Amino acid sequence: MKTMTCQQLGGPCDLAHRGESADEVIKAQDHHLKEMEKAGDAAHQPARDDMKKRWRRPRKALGWYNATKETFAGLPED
Ligand SMILES: [Zn+2]
Repeated sequence: MKTMTCQQLGGPCDLAHRGESADEVIKAQDHHLKEMEKAGDAAHQPARDDMKKRWRRPRKALGWYNATKETFAGLPED
């Protein structure tokens, strides 16, 4: 398992997501951003909007996705 924080995924807080793959932590972050949006947290809104754009335009988001996967791959197992 590895850990990536909300901040490492483009968000504003240091909530840690744990997962076996980059896809898992990205999904966890997506869920976290949705929850924060529902809660009316303005600090997370820009990250939430970015994430929405990524789902709408997956090809454009590939750079971000690959960079995130690379960061994840470089993290130590914990
Ligand atoms: Zn957060």
